[in-house]
Amino acid sequence: MSLDLLLFLAIVLTILLKNWKSTTPTPSSTKSPCIRCGMLTSLRCSSCHEAYYCSPEHITADWKNHKVVCRPGFEALLFPVDAAAPVLVKIPYTSKVDTDGLEPTPYHDLDSATLRRFLHGLEMKYVSRIGSHGHLLERPLVVMYGSDFRVDNSPLNQCIAGITGGRMGIPWAGNVLVLRQKGRLYYETYESASMEDASAMAKFFEEYQDFVPYEFSD
Ligand SMILES: [Zn+2]
Ligand SMILES: [Zn+2]
Repeated sequence: MSLDLLLFLAIVLTILLKNWKSTTPTPSSTKSPCIRCGMLTSLRCSSCHEAYYCSPEHITADWKNHKVVCRPGFEALLFPVDAAAPVLVKIPYTSKVDTDGLEPTPYHDLDSATLRRFLHGLEMKYVSRIGSHGHLLERPLVVMYGSDFRVDNSPLNQCIAGITGGRMGIPWAGNVLVLRQKGRLYYETYESASMEDASAMAKFFEEYQDFVPYEFSD
């Protein structure tokens, strides 16, 4: 067996294990009845974040039915153009493996139709530290915004204006979405953001200015 094939199998196995592990529920801020037993619960399927289950046992018991409709997605932090507070929104993705490079590399293909609903064009910044003297983030923040927001007459982002007290480093306009990168070297491999990322982002929106040294890569 060649090394490439071994690597490929290892990656396929990782993806399969990851899907299997998706039966570990993740908490939500709202409650809904468990699909299996009807008990009110705030635990959801960690893959789609949509189906509620009271326990890992009931996800496992219902997985045969649920896997047919379970569409994996990340929860992104949305800074809405026209609302005061950030909210979590679902960005579906497909797990893929890039076989063009030296070794097969898994990545997440974010659903472009969903991204288009929020953003006109897409540009990303990978923020690996907050502030010029901040510590390196284990999981960098991925900031997604409309590619031409400064010239396409997008309205000023009310949410970012609010959370920075009007002290935005640049006039962010249109919607802004934030995800986490799985790790510093895991390009195009994401994790969900959370409400707890909002304060770090507020600092970023305040401090980030064009042409000012700031650690990120495009
Ligand atoms: Zn249940
Ligand atoms: Zn699911």
